[in-house]
Amino acid sequence: MAIRQLRYENDPILRKKSREVEIIDDRIKVLVQDMLDTMYKEEGVGLAAPQVGILKKVVVIDVGDGPITLINPEILQKEGENIDLEGCLSIPGKSGKVCRPEKVKVEYLDLEGNKNTIIGTDILSRALCHEIDHLNGILYIDKVISTEEE
Ligand code: ZN
Repeated sequence: MAIRQLRYENDPILRKKSREVEIIDDRIKVLVQDMLDTMYKEEGVGLAAPQVGILKKVVVIDVGDGPITLINPEILQKEGENIDLEGCLSIPGKSGKVCRPEKVKVEYLDLEGNKNTIIGTDILSRALCHEIDHLNGILYIDKVISTEEE
């Protein structure tokens, strides 16, 4: 178990695009485990690799139904709209209202390298979109409708 150092709002690495994972080797598996440990310790519902300084397309999410690991995730379909409060472990103490799809379908590789799809609604849709944005150097504050201090 290892907690990784989080990167915060003004760190330029958060604005860079992540690269595809080509081989799911032990380094990727350790990264995933560390990301889960870090996410749970910080009480987040999702974490993307750039938030711990690694520019690879790796995302972990747990919206309360257990951990999901997504390698090279890509949104295939979006449906509807849903405006709600959203926060980010890289921007502590703040949250803002963001419009996200009500439902998304995402394709990804699991840790065994198998291609999977996941359909997320409500908070899972929001988490998937938020974390996949991180892989493209996008933060929720880029899309925010109104900000709130906590
Ligand atoms: Zn975030």
